[in-house]
Amino acid sequence: MKPFKVRLRFHADLKIFLGSKAGGALVERLLAEKTSIKDVIESCGVPHPEVDLILVDDQTVGFNHTLATDAKVEVFPVENRGTSQTDKRLQTIGLTRFVADGHLGKLTRNLRLLGFDVAYDQGAEDRQLLDVMARQNRALLTRDRRLLMHAIVQHGYYPRSQNPDEQTIEVIRRFELSELIAPFTRCLRCNAPLEQADKAELMDELEPLTKIYYDQFRRCPDCEHIYWPGSHFSKLQKRIEEIRARVRGKP
Ligand SMILES: [Zn+2]
Repeated sequence: MKPFKVRLRFHADLKIFLGSKAGGALVERLLAEKTSIKDVIESCGVPHPEVDLILVDDQTVGFNHTLATDAKVEVFPVENRGTSQTDKRLQTIGLTRFVADGHLGKLTRNLRLLGFDVAYDQGAEDRQLLDVMARQNRALLTRDRRLLMHAIVQHGYYPRSQNPDEQTIEVIRRFELSELIAPFTRCLRCNAPLEQADKAELMDELEPLTKIYYDQFRRCPDCEHIYWPGSHFSKLQKRIEEIRARVRGKP
């Protein structure tokens, strides 16, 4: 087969995956055999769950599209959703169930604080993460690009920032979750949805001052941890308001 040349342009922040020696958003690939567009894009370092729209010679295509001749390719991330071609988008927004890798403990806690369902095990190995992701239909959150490129990953996200609060804002934006935030509804320790608890039934377990000052309690049905609007609550509340304000404002 005659070698052919593919010119790819990566839009918006997909550039971060290309590595410094690329020097820009343009990559050229010389190919000698039929190759799927997904493989060509990933060979440039960009994981497929980050790709929302692909144009090959101005036509929208899916990940299975095969290249066999010279082509000009435009690759867009999710954040760049305009009004056009929304039906051709490759990613899903509004997903609320996640599995986070072992390095994202603080992001996990933040998302749980906002009410989102995040499976997390600090010691989980890659195959366990992929297994939970596939069996429970969760989106994978990881800064391991190779893992995100795994063929069975359908939905996922690579947090750009190393800062957990920034990562939280990124995830809410990426999956468009701002309307679905429900603070203090999920156990921060084990992810179970909290249940209202009757104060009378908790009396034996509460500290004397807590008994006096608080009447609203929630309890985790799994780990039995008790939550109430104590001194840490206003700190968390402030944190949630900051995150909400940041999500509403533009970066
Ligand atoms: Zn719990």
